[in-house]
Amino acid sequence: MSPSALRRITLPAGEQIPVLGQGTWRMAEIRERRNEEIAALRLGLDLGLTLVDTAEMYADGGAERLVGEAIAGRRDEVFLVSKVLPSNATQSRMILACEASLRRLNTDRIDLYLLHWPGPAPLWQTIDGFRELVDRGWIRYWGVSNFDVPDLASLWDLPLGTDVQTDQILYNLARRSPEYSLLPWCQEHELPVMAYSPVERGDMVRHPAVRGVAERRGIAPAQVAIAWVLREPLVCAIPKSGSRGHVRENAAAATITLTGPDLHELDLAFPPPLKPEPLQTH
Ligand code: NAP
Repeated sequence: MSPSALRRITLPAGEQIPVLGQGTWRMAEIRERRNEEIAALRLGLDLGLTLVDTAEMYADGGAERLVGEAIAGRRDEVFLVSKVLPSNATQSRMILACEASLRRLNTDRIDLYLLHWPGPAPLWQTIDGFRELVDRGWIRYWGVSNFDVPDLASLWDLPLGTDVQTDQILYNLARRSPEYSLLPWCQEHELPVMAYSPVERGDMVRHPAVRGVAERRGIAPAQVAIAWVLREPLVCAIPKSGSRGHVRENAAAATITLTGPDLHELDLAFPPPLKPEPLQTH
């Protein structure tokens, strides 16, 4: 698949990003895996997975350093996402946190900077921090993560709260609660959702129902899980893989459309929610 073939979604600011990207949680934790992790991220870029997600929290900054190494010389190809910890989400602390992330990432800008989860800082202070970073040119856009409907509604009511570009949430076959009210809210407000853990941290690959569909279709189980997440409009996904074989498989998932019978079989194993449930985060 040529990189340009990857479907894209449009952020509220008008920027288009690939529907499929690459996560980096649990990277840079084991020294022996480092070279393969960097090679996997670079192969992902070659295949069009140029949306790269990381966070100051991952491996205590180590994942940002690894991403910096992987994208060296290719910065302009990448839509780079990083996250600030809630404990750093006031204006003064965010400036320091972002400066440190930029240094580790070895870049002069982060494309999308997310509040990692709702925390103690009042949201207006967090927005002030994001605005300051946009004014400095250190970040291009900002967004949130792990925000449920009430959190998003509070954000929406604040001045400039509607500048938010995405809500990054846990969404996959085994975590369908967002379908009850969060995804409809985001559709209504045209807010793209970035689905994390699309293969449920690897568990979907072993699930009999997922394997059943995969075998029938002649595709890999991870591709079933990823294609299922991508069936929703305005949803992109950021599977993590530190292995080139898996990255190749995952990239191809963006071109797979699940059929009615596939979706029916998956619905039986993973029923959609029938009542509101709080957004899960782990
Ligand atoms: P995930 O992407 O659902 O699963 C990653 C696991 O699946 C890894 O163990 C990986 O192993 C395995 N895997 C990936 N592709 C595979 C394939 N084709 N075949 C078999 N196994 C495969 O889980 P995640 O890492 O939790 O989520 C993805 C990203 O979302 C994270 O890396 C992070 O960037 C972000 N995230 C954000 C939050 C948040 O609070 N905002 C929380 C969690 C995650 P290999 O590496 O060996 O391929």
